[in-house]
Amino acid sequence: MNRLFFITLLFCSIVFSSDHKKLHTAAIVVDTHNDVLLRAMKGEDLSVRTTEGHSDVVRLNEGGVDVQIFSVWCGSEFGNGRAFNRAIEMIDTLHAIVRRANDKIVLTSTYMDVNRALKQKKIAALIGVEGGHMIEDSLFYLDSLAKRGMNYLTLTWNNSTTWATSAADETEKGDSLAFKGLTEFGKNVVRRLNDLGVMVDLSHTGEKTFWDALAVTKKPVLVSHSSVYSICPSRRNLKDDQIKAVAKNNGVICINFYSGFIDSNYHRRVSEIRKNYSGLVDSMKQANADYWKAELSIDSALAPHYLEARPTLSLLVDHIDYIAKLVGADFVGIGSDFDGVESLPKEMDDVTFLPNITRELLMRGYTEKDIRKILGSNVMRVMKANMQ
Ligand SMILES: [Zn+2]
Repeated sequence: MNRLFFITLLFCSIVFSSDHKKLHTAAIVVDTHNDVLLRAMKGEDLSVRTTEGHSDVVRLNEGGVDVQIFSVWCGSEFGNGRAFNRAIEMIDTLHAIVRRANDKIVLTSTYMDVNRALKQKKIAALIGVEGGHMIEDSLFYLDSLAKRGMNYLTLTWNNSTTWATSAADETEKGDSLAFKGLTEFGKNVVRRLNDLGVMVDLSHTGEKTFWDALAVTKKPVLVSHSSVYSICPSRRNLKDDQIKAVAKNNGVICINFYSGFIDSNYHRRVSEIRKNYSGLVDSMKQANADYWKAELSIDSALAPHYLEARPTLSLLVDHIDYIAKLVGADFVGIGSDFDGVESLPKEMDDVTFLPNITRELLMRGYTEKDIRKILGSNVMRVMKANMQ
């Protein structure tokens, strides 16, 4: 490397490293999907710094997050009679966290509340209910969740409801499904969400549900934590025609950071690692009769090796870049899925690494205006158009 080139490189990296932090701090940073409430439900106090997982109130602050939508989620096994109550319990848990750290974070349910929190330099905490099964087929429960501050409803999680089919079911069960897309009740759910000022979230939904919801909604939609299918063909990611349709609707797609949704080779690399350690994998399977317990102990034993299999930060930013180039920088945002996934790209170990995205976007020549849009202004626009 010649000397002049080295000095230029050093100068650029110093300029970028100070600039990106300044810009990241000044911008409104919005993350539309964080699963950390699951850890709180197990008894962890998230109002203080924790050593496990990807986030807590202290680390959200350090990562420059200004607006955080917390996922309220339960699996399909909760079912009618239990899922709605579980959602209420999780919302109560978020209230408890906010009460304990009320100098740093405040619960907000209206767009005005969010702006007030920003002025007070506190994190605005919002509620996203992940999975239509949590309304238990009832518009009354839907109204109740909205009254308790629900800011978005993800129409389905991996499981379908009686009124909407999921990406998992549409791709795996296909024509054997009794119906595909939204039923008449499902369309009424979308209309009701519009009326209540709750964002319609289309992550996890099947393609038919996606198109049906877009045909019904009168408001811009949110895709809270999905990435780009053309780069990584996962059923959880959006195809080009879907990305164009969200842009036409003036909605926003928030990129999911999960290694498996970012990098189409991630799962292959993980299975190669497991093959290389087949002796250890077999012995752990023999020691644990329960499939999931065995998988958990295999994964934790191989965790240091999985770290090397992770995609680069650059590949994560490729997803943002792809949407910006396809439809413009007005329709892409951040939906990390922190604390909901077992693997994140390199240089994105937890929420405190978030400014690295700003650095990467600056290095790629994005303007400050576009970076501010991507970091949060686009989601703010969609929130303003929906929320009361
Ligand atoms: Zn999810």
